[in-house]
Order: sequence, then structure tokens, then C-alpha cells
Amino acid sequence: MEIAARFGTDGASPRAVHDVVKDLPIYADRPFCLTDGTDGFLDALPFMTKADLRRYFPHGFLRPGTSFASLIASKKVEVVRTSGTSSDRLQVLWDADWWERQEAAALKSHAYIGPRMTGEYTEAVLTTPLCSESVCKTGPATMEERRVDNLLFLNTQHDPSRWTHSDLARMADEIDRFRPAAIEADPVYLAVLARHLRDSRRPVFKFDWIILTYEFVSAIDKTAIRGLFGCPVFEFYGLTEAGVFFLECPKGRHHFCGSDSVVEVFRVTEGDDGWRGLPVNTGEAVVTTWGNSAAPLLRYRTGDLVTVGVDRCACGAPGPTVLSFEGRIRDVIKLPDGKVFTPRLIDDTLFGIPGLAQYVCVQEGPDSMRVDYVSDGPRDPGGEIVSQLHSILGTARVAARSAPFITPEQSGKYRTAVPL
Ligand SMILES: [Zn+2]
Repeated sequence: MEIAARFGTDGASPRAVHDVVKDLPIYADRPFCLTDGTDGFLDALPFMTKADLRRYFPHGFLRPGTSFASLIASKKVEVVRTSGTSSDRLQVLWDADWWERQEAAALKSHAYIGPRMTGEYTEAVLTTPLCSESVCKTGPATMEERRVDNLLFLNTQHDPSRWTHSDLARMADEIDRFRPAAIEADPVYLAVLARHLRDSRRPVFKFDWIILTYEFVSAIDKTAIRGLFGCPVFEFYGLTEAGVFFLECPKGRHHFCGSDSVVEVFRVTEGDDGWRGLPVNTGEAVVTTWGNSAAPLLRYRTGDLVTVGVDRCACGAPGPTVLSFEGRIRDVIKLPDGKVFTPRLIDDTLFGIPGLAQYVCVQEGPDSMRVDYVSDGPRDPGGEIVSQLHSILGTARVAARSAPFITPEQSGKYRTAVPL
């Protein structure tokens, strides 16, 4: 497989990575090349997947003479569960404070956010109550019970389509009382809150900035959020099992922001899996991490597609960038002729249709698609959804069906594209 870009190699040293991984059983059979620089070190390594993490947890991460019980009792390491669907879900090990440390380093490196992260910095968090990184709060809990350090976790139940007007009003009240500098949110969840604030004509709290993370960011949600809150909105890309890697700059590109990690992007070339039609610089992000010494990863396949920009960003920061996050490989829709459509391509096609709030595009047969959509306002976007999708899908059959809401996955995340 060809490499479209490597991010983070300036801060990498093969010796430093080797020191962290060398006595972990999971990597006992890895070929380590310490003589050809970071590129040579990476090139020698095979890929690993989520299935490997599942298979080797926790014994593959226990150094000689260490038991799992003693590791946990030491409080130097914690067990964290990722928020995937049940077949996707993982348990991973985090060094104490590692997540906060690398996340804070990423935010501090940002041209807009960094100078505004003062000692008094506070943040509201709006995502599934299951997957907030350092705390799990489900069911009724008071505002005080949902405050952890400088954070306020707003959500208390899984499915935003079940939020009542009083749930939404409570969240808005709590934001007004807490007065956070910023909010970090799942884009679908925050878009629901934004539309509620708009429709109830309630004064909108002024955040200094908004971070969208946790899942694929639809341009429909991002635009609704930016329009209502009127502050800078940045996407933040990371994985619970691996760390944070990209943060959007004020010019709309995504710069590498990882600590002690490298991201490689492997092109999906014509013919891989019989795929056709992806841009040349679109590929899978593969991460190598050594900052989290409890569970470092070597060439871990994220399953996420990104499109790389090789020219310099207008913000002036050097190096390649990510132009767009294309969605998960498992969500790519493929037609019988081999032509493929990433969730981003479908999202770009449906973006801008008046009256469209949310959708999921389901491939029902090899060349037939059904779009379930939620309207925003009185206008029915169904006809335009069909005609826009026809413009990229050619002769495939497309049907659109209005829905009162779209149900998230068990994990609380949404899929916008579901292939056959
Ligand atoms: Zn930039």
C-alpha cells in the first residue's frame, strides 16, 4: 500500500518507541529496525487491528512480573471502555492523566484556542453519557454530580431523540449558570440543542469556541451550530484507544496535534477491494503511539478514511494537513460497478438542501438506496434529496422517506451511510 502522508515523524525517535514497547508480550514477535530512521522503523512493522487489541487485552500489555490486579491497584493505569457498537467495543489501558495531558497539549498548540486556555478555563461536554472520557454519568444526576474538575457533563440519557423540551431547557439553563469558555460536543447532539434554542427563541450563550468530536461531523450539523452560536467551531479527531491527532485550524484544515505519536495515511488505490473513484490522496489513517506507555500501539489501523492536502495551509502552519474526514471504511457504499461513495461524499452532496436536518443513507440492494431524513421546518426536502443523490449515483435507484427522528447506534453514535 502506498503512503499519502506521514504526520508527527519530526517528534519521533525509533529508540524512544522501542523502549516503550520492547517488553510487552503483544509485540514480542515484531521486527524492530533501529538503524533506518523513523520511516525505516515504521516500514518494517506489520499492521495491527482492533481485533488484536481485543485478543491481547490485558495480558499482551502486562510487562514481565506485573499482574493485572497489581497494575490496577497501583492507580498508575486505568481501564477505559470505548464507545463503539457491541462488536466494536474495546477495553483499553490508559496511563493516569495521559488523556488529559495530550488533549491539553493539542488544544494549547492551537492558534485560536491556545492563548484562551487560561487557568480559569471551563468547558461543558455534550455527548453520550456513556462515553465521556473520564466519567460515566447516566440517569438523573444533579448538576453538581455531573461536574468534574473544570468540566460539566450536560447529558443524562442516551438518545437525543428522546430529549424532551424540559431536558433541553435544563441543559440551556445549566450552560447559562456554568458559563463555560467552550463546549466540546457530539455534533448531532449539539445540533439538536441548537435547533431547540432557535425554535424557542431563547437567548444563546456565547461560547468562546466550540469543539466537535466523538464522531463523523456532518456539514449540515456544523453549519447549523456555527450559524446559531456565532463563534469559531473546530473539529477534533481522536480515538479513545489511541489519543488525539488532528485539530481544525481557523482556515478549516486539520493539523496534526498528537503527542508522542505518528499518523500514516495509506492510499486506497484503484483495485484495492475492487474500489473505484476515490481521490488519489484519500486513505486509511494508521497510528503509532508511545505516549500512553500502558498500551502503546504500533501501526494500528483506525478504520477511518481521510483525504490529505499536501500544499501549505493558508494559516501558515507547515506540513501536510487533513482536508476532510471521509468517515469509516465500513460505512463506504459500493455500487456493482466498483464505484465507491464515502460518508463525506454523500454528506457533501446532501449539504445545503433547504429543510434537511438529519439523514441516514441505507443501501438496500446492490444498486438501490433509501434515505431516511428528518426535516427542519415545513419544507419537505425529500424530492431534492433524491435528485441530488441521483447526480452522483447515476442509475442506482434512490428513495427518500421522511422520519420523525433517526435512532443512534447502541453506542449513542450515528451512522450517516449504511452499506449493504
Ligand atoms: Zn491551517
